[in-house]
Amino acid sequence: MNAAHARSNIGAIDAAHHMHPFSDMKKLNADGTRIIQRAEGVHIFDNHGKKYLDGFAGLWCVNVGYGRKEITDAVMRQMNELPYYNTFFGTTTEPATLLAEKIISHAGPRFSHVFFTGSGSEANDTWFRMARVYWKTLGHPEKKVIISRKNGYHGSTVAGASLGGMKWMHEQGDLPIPGVVHIGQPYWYVEGGDLSPEEFGLRAAGELEEKILELGADKVAAFVAEPIQGAGGVIIPPSTYWPEIARICKKYDILLVNDEVICGFGRLGTWFGHQYYGLEPDLCPIAKGLSSGYLPIGGVMVSKRVADVLINEAGDFNHGFTYSGHPVCAAAALENLRIIEDEKLVERVRDDTGPYFAKAWKSLEDHEVVGQAESVGLMGGLQLAADKTTRRRYAKPEDAGVVVRNHCLKNGLVLRATNDRMLASPPLIITRAEIDELVTTLRGGLDHLRDTMPR
Ligand SMILES: *Cc1c(COP(=O)(O)O)cnc(C)c1O
Repeated sequence: MNAAHARSNIGAIDAAHHMHPFSDMKKLNADGTRIIQRAEGVHIFDNHGKKYLDGFAGLWCVNVGYGRKEITDAVMRQMNELPYYNTFFGTTTEPATLLAEKIISHAGPRFSHVFFTGSGSEANDTWFRMARVYWKTLGHPEKKVIISRKNGYHGSTVAGASLGGMKWMHEQGDLPIPGVVHIGQPYWYVEGGDLSPEEFGLRAAGELEEKILELGADKVAAFVAEPIQGAGGVIIPPSTYWPEIARICKKYDILLVNDEVICGFGRLGTWFGHQYYGLEPDLCPIAKGLSSGYLPIGGVMVSKRVADVLINEAGDFNHGFTYSGHPVCAAAALENLRIIEDEKLVERVRDDTGPYFAKAWKSLEDHEVVGQAESVGLMGGLQLAADKTTRRRYAKPEDAGVVVRNHCLKNGLVLRATNDRMLASPPLIITRAEIDELVTTLRGGLDHLRDTMPR
């Protein structure tokens, strides 16, 4: 089959041979898949030449935008010099080592080491074992339960999906694995009842203390959470939540793990999400924005506290991946971080586009079908509502989100819908004018929902 013939046939070939992640394949094959052909800046183009503003940065990851020749050049140079070597048997490569140094330089003095993986899921599998090895080495082999949250997302491997709190994922494969338990999420709009957001934040955090007391602090290794839940719907916790969680972890000597896979690398206007909230985590899985998605790479940032035990006392850590510290992926990530530094993208989100986005996003709260529009940096969550005065939701929340998402798509804007929340996470290079365009197109989608779906 020649290439031109194949191109016109991609839809049929895809249906015949390609299984997609998180998809109902029968439905996808009937509807037909969209084919993305090329991209530049904050825009993607499909195979018909239709242009979209990518309000989702690929999948939360293309922080520096598309078409960065500096990154592809760095990748080509590394490919030609050394396309692969491992970091297992007493060896390293220059990009892997320099990348670890670079990441730690932004993580602050609390952290000392990075363990590399190929993805965010693998990063979660990695700290999961680190946390247990840590306590076992210190003479507490029973301190091994991990507490996580309902509706959290930590990837799709067996450990990642277990740590995550998605019931519909647990149902497939008999998850979670033993030793992982879940508490509630700080989702005030839907679960807060008559409490104020601040009261509810304390209540939701209090569930951690209740769970620790129920299990016994001597049985609990760690608590894991995203600074802001991403895939769960950009659930921004009330202001009281994180200080209370931090207090509880300290009080009972539980490791705090912040999953920085989305919040890391500038998304919140700080290098890392835990810095935005002033937290002191012990382990942080990272991925996505680390390479802006140009090549797959993830890792775990390890605090001095944990690294000292793992390195000086635990002996061999029997864990790793063929592609841990892959030199080409590391070269892409190094160049990506150089761009973030040189173009001051973190500061730009913090001081300019973040506040601008916050104001534009918040302006949608005047719409009849919007219950709440919140954001931090360039991460926005918008709650749809059938009745905004009583916080009543649509009868089928997931359908409401799909209506808005599809209307936006038709009008050249990619956003994600999680149930009845619209999520935005654009590339960090987005301009004020492009933010206006994003919000205006979304408003059109909200109008469409108001006009077509009974409340
Ligand atoms: C995407 C994501 C992961 C999983 O990363 P993969 O690279 O898809 O394995 C883990 N945690 C969070 C918070 C994520 O958003």
